[in-house]
Amino acid sequence: MTMRIDITDVHRRYGDVEALAGLDLTVDSGDAYGLVGTNGAGKSTLFGLIAGHDRPDDGRITVGGRDVRETGWRIRESIGVLPENPGFPPGETGRETLAFHADVRGIGSGPGDAAERIAGAAATVGLADAIDRPIGGYSKGMRRRLGLAAALLANPAVLLLDEPTAGLDPNGVAALREILTRVRDETGVTLLMATHALREAERVCDRVGVLDDGRLVAEGRPDDLATGHDDGLEGAFVS
Ligand code: ATP
Repeated sequence: MTMRIDITDVHRRYGDVEALAGLDLTVDSGDAYGLVGTNGAGKSTLFGLIAGHDRPDDGRITVGGRDVRETGWRIRESIGVLPENPGFPPGETGRETLAFHADVRGIGSGPGDAAERIAGAAATVGLADAIDRPIGGYSKGMRRRLGLAAALLANPAVLLLDEPTAGLDPNGVAALREILTRVRDETGVTLLMATHALREAERVCDRVGVLDDGRLVAEGRPDDLATGHDDGLEGAFVS
């Protein structure tokens, strides 16, 4: 099951700051979309709204055609989130942490079900061998992959990734990129990824958009950027 994300004229204000100022954005079902923007452009705010942790002041966000504010829809079953810095207790093992996440999300009512999903998610992110070791001994890349495993536990139709490769060394970046590409190919999940790095977005994403001051100021295919035949992207990336 895959789902399309539609964001229509969304506003979110914090006092005088308009974090999102009439954002329009569509991610087609099964697509990977990279949202590029500077600090404070509004990416985290947007993710909180899509995941239903926060509400827009105006506008509408639908996932799979349903408003994310609708009550009674167990949206958390359809949307997986990888926060920028997942905080994990260092004394716990990877398995214990995933079991906690499965429990919180009500995954695995049948006997053995949660355990199977945990083992499956750990294998998907390449942590099968490390799963019974304390997280305190994990590298930053391993912790990020554990966060991805937690997001995958619910077999999400939509995956929101906030700066998934930020602060990782080149090996960690390559490993995460390979996992995301594989997960996408195998599950058809719709992927929305926030990043500062255009090159990273280019490699994984079908479309790239530039968020600035809470609005989409440019959008196109990654190769539009490379060729310069773009629909407004040229010159949008300075770094
Ligand atoms: P970063 O990459 O640094 O996380 P971002 O693109 O995710 O940046 P947001 O965190 O969404 O940006 O913030 C957008 C704007 O809204 C910023 O000006 C920020 O200071 C402001 N903002 C976000 N959350 C709050 C809040 N809870 N209270 C007040 N202002 C906020």
